[in-house]
Amino acid sequence: MIYIGCHLSVTNGYEAMGKKMLDFGGNTFAYFTRNPRGGKSKEIIPEDAAALNQLLRENRFGALVAHGSYTMNLCASNPVTKANGLDMLQKDIDRMEAFPGNFYNFHPGAHTGQGADKGIELIAEALNSVLFPQMQTTVLLETMAGKGTEMGRSFEELRAIIDRVELSDKLGVCFDTCHVWDAGYDIAGDLDGVLQRFDDVIGLERLYAVHFNDSKNPCGSHKDRHEKLGEGCIGMEAMKRIALHPALQNKPFILETPNDDSGYIKEIRTVLSWMK
Ligand code: FE
Ligand code: FE
Ligand code: ZN
Repeated sequence: MIYIGCHLSVTNGYEAMGKKMLDFGGNTFAYFTRNPRGGKSKEIIPEDAAALNQLLRENRFGALVAHGSYTMNLCASNPVTKANGLDMLQKDIDRMEAFPGNFYNFHPGAHTGQGADKGIELIAEALNSVLFPQMQTTVLLETMAGKGTEMGRSFEELRAIIDRVELSDKLGVCFDTCHVWDAGYDIAGDLDGVLQRFDDVIGLERLYAVHFNDSKNPCGSHKDRHEKLGEGCIGMEAMKRIALHPALQNKPFILETPNDDSGYIKEIRTVLSWMK
């Protein structure tokens, strides 16, 4: 089995998200740690955090996959952008300690013309300055589609970042199916081959979570446009093979498909029907 859920809004607080996911029939979820385009984060009230933690335990949820801001760019050439990114990362990681044992995933960044090697160096430097030995969160680098100067477009780039981080036991990867496909990995035609490649380059033990999305575009398009399950170029049969793949069992799968609540409920049901 896998854990399945979708992105939820933190607007009504933390326990409210857990309750909503119970209503949706899922057993994990994601939320933005702050406004994805702005930077404000929702205040954590200790009672609310405790209530969510209890709900997660009692209902045997899989790990949550909190998502960092899109505006956070740890390898920006603009020093102000870079410093803001580091500040967001630091605060997000500290705040995650209110929800021990969960995941914090973020987009590695965009090197904005400095080159991938410099990008790798800067992302690792940022992580080295914020990770701490006692932290109870695993930080996940997201596989990216490779739009523009986006970092994380290949398993090798992610590996190079991990290699440069001292507390690398705190680090893992979030495997976004739309992004991996758009980056040029044929998960529809050769899922075993792609996961073998992931294992050879990064190691499957670093694959902690999946963003479960179909793609509007063909493999290798570097576009990053998500589609509803089965309505995109990856297709339903391939999505099902991914959810049932032995290497991906017991991991949280997060839907980031273009859906309203009823669409997410339907997709969660579809995925759960595969598990039977
Ligand atoms: Fe993402
Ligand atoms: Fe994603
Ligand atoms: Zn995306």
